[in-house]
Amino acid sequence: MPHHGQAESETDTHLPTVEPNLLRPHGLGAGAYIFQSNYLQYLKDLLPYPDRRVEVNIMIQPNSSPHIGTLCNLGVAFVVARRMADLGMEAVVTCDLCDRAGGEQVAVGGIVYQRTLRDTGSFQRNLPDYQELLQLLSRRYNVPFKLRFEAELLGSDGMSEILQNIIENRATLAKFLAPGTGTLAIRAACPQCGLVDRYGLKNSYAPDASSVSFLCPHHGQFTHSTKDSHHFMFNCQLLNLIIGYFYEKSLHNYIEIIGSDYAGFWQEQLLCRFLSKPMVIVYTPLISDWAGAKVSKSLYLRGTAYEYLKKAGMDYLLNYRTLRTERRDLGILWHEIERWIDEPYRLFRGYSIEYIHLLFQGTCQGLLHQQTERPTME
Ligand SMILES: [Zn+2]
Repeated sequence: MPHHGQAESETDTHLPTVEPNLLRPHGLGAGAYIFQSNYLQYLKDLLPYPDRRVEVNIMIQPNSSPHIGTLCNLGVAFVVARRMADLGMEAVVTCDLCDRAGGEQVAVGGIVYQRTLRDTGSFQRNLPDYQELLQLLSRRYNVPFKLRFEAELLGSDGMSEILQNIIENRATLAKFLAPGTGTLAIRAACPQCGLVDRYGLKNSYAPDASSVSFLCPHHGQFTHSTKDSHHFMFNCQLLNLIIGYFYEKSLHNYIEIIGSDYAGFWQEQLLCRFLSKPMVIVYTPLISDWAGAKVSKSLYLRGTAYEYLKKAGMDYLLNYRTLRTERRDLGILWHEIERWIDEPYRLFRGYSIEYIHLLFQGTCQGLLHQQTERPTME
């Protein structure tokens, strides 16, 4: 039943009717036919160092309180790590919080600059929610976690060489990674005012790729050596590639957890084609709205896009703080995610936000989980 009387009638009008015959046939994604069970054993067998630890990594831009997509990603990370531990591996979850992602943009002289989430205070506001969730999941699954910020990740051993290689190959890489500007989004914040040239349009590079000079519209040029890689920042696709290069050389195992909106063309064009030893990636099912579009944090932050979900009493799925205030039982979501991993034909598909809401409502779980047909093996 709905939690709030006021939303009750609205809720009823916005929910799909779930009847048994609506659930048949239960269409299966391509992956369902090959990964019927033991998906985690399959992944374990792909890892390069069977006797060494496995790091399960998730990267998040903390520009809002976690929403359902982020909760699912975090849940998948911990369940994968738990199952790896069950298979005898030492497993740890690393959560990279991109605290220097763009928080707001300003245009100066036709060039787009941005301030980081840390500079705008958005990161500091949202950090406690992520810490709380990580602790909660770590306790539930008895898996340790490490929370890491960008400067620590980018200051890791080996990053300077990766950065230098990227600078040397920037013309070729930009064709794939930056078709809009033709310049790689290699960034650094002005040491005086924090402004960042979003697309690296005014960057100049040392001929031996040992340093980059950046231009602040107010304070002029400043330069960082590639040895000080912790000063550098990148856009999403470039950071993803840098991480791909980084873990290619790693001496422990690495599994990336990422939303399935990144599956396919994105990873093929922007990551995998550049790697000789691509990492193992587990894609989290996409949570979509009524139209099949991803439930998006950016749209939520813009204010009016999800008015219909608020009216339907479903805004707790857009904001972890609301979910906690309404005392929703997160165990329902974690159980669902365990099913995705343990019965992997449930993993290679998407779920609508209405489906997740019905789970939380708890009125028709048997029907939702009913699977009339198991896939036959390819
Ligand atoms: Zn400045």
